[in-house]
Amino acid sequence: MNIESTYKLNNGIKIPKLGYGTFQTPDDELGVQAIIKALQIGYRHIDTAQSYRNEESVGKAIKLAGIQREELFITTKVANSVGNFESTIQSLDDSLDKLELDYIDLVLIHWPSPKAFRENWQQRNHDVWKALESYYQQGKIKAIGISNFKTKHINELLKTATITPAINQIRLCPGCIDTETIDICQQYNILLEAYSPLAQGLIFEVQEISELAEKYNKNVAQIALRWSLQMGFLPLPKSITESRTLANTEIFDFELEETDVAMLTNLTGRCGSAKDPDSVPF
Ligand code: NDP
Repeated sequence: MNIESTYKLNNGIKIPKLGYGTFQTPDDELGVQAIIKALQIGYRHIDTAQSYRNEESVGKAIKLAGIQREELFITTKVANSVGNFESTIQSLDDSLDKLELDYIDLVLIHWPSPKAFRENWQQRNHDVWKALESYYQQGKIKAIGISNFKTKHINELLKTATITPAINQIRLCPGCIDTETIDICQQYNILLEAYSPLAQGLIFEVQEISELAEKYNKNVAQIALRWSLQMGFLPLPKSITESRTLANTEIFDFELEETDVAMLTNLTGRCGSAKDPDSVPF
């Protein structure tokens, strides 16, 4: 396994096992340069979102890095402000423009129950999904998925979906797993992407992870990212610091013992927890 290794999605598309997160990456020259560096280091999978407001920087970085389009895997997410078929199509055209791409590899519904549509989240998700299916059929999107969906949101979506989601992107890190959601995703062969795989920095405070880092002669971030891979997840670490961006790729040359994987899994609540999608204030 190395940085070029891929998972196969339930529609046959291949996705690099490590992604590069861009939440809070600025939409400016600093952001563009950080993404170019990541591509030069070897990342081929970039995770952005309409709501991160940095799709233009992702697009510029892709252009400037000069890597073949087929080698890249680009994800974006439909924003919470988008609530029906037409506005989803409009938002996808906007993303394609900003990213300067002819197609997007993966588009996710960012949250299942945005505040603005909470009264009628079921209908909103059915409508947004229909639009994603339509662009998928036209080849403008290569795979479609969801994010922050729990069991009830998945079951509801599947009532009208003609395409099963390929991905569910949720918060997953040592001590922060949602067994019920993981189980239903595995049942439908929906790959789990791990967002905030470093718990936005909280993992660095946990003594047990530091001890494992010493044991394996790795750093704390590498232990958490390796745990994610061995759990069968797809981690999406974010860094705009070149040395960290590089270090976060050095996770393919060692293996955690099963007991250590279990210990990390059981650090329950020590690295924060996922937000409840039905009560987020956005
Ligand atoms: P992460 O868990 O990836 O943590 C990012 C933070 O850790 C940054 O402050 C970064 O600092 C720091 N960092 C990164 N690598 C190292 C390292 N090796 N050593 C020390 N510090 C390090 O948090 P995110 O919340 O950004 O999650 C990752 C990605 O997941 C996002 O960028 C986004 O793409 C996705 N995401 C999706 C969500 C969703 O709702 N679907 C929600 C949240 C995230 P610095 O950049 O300064 O180097």
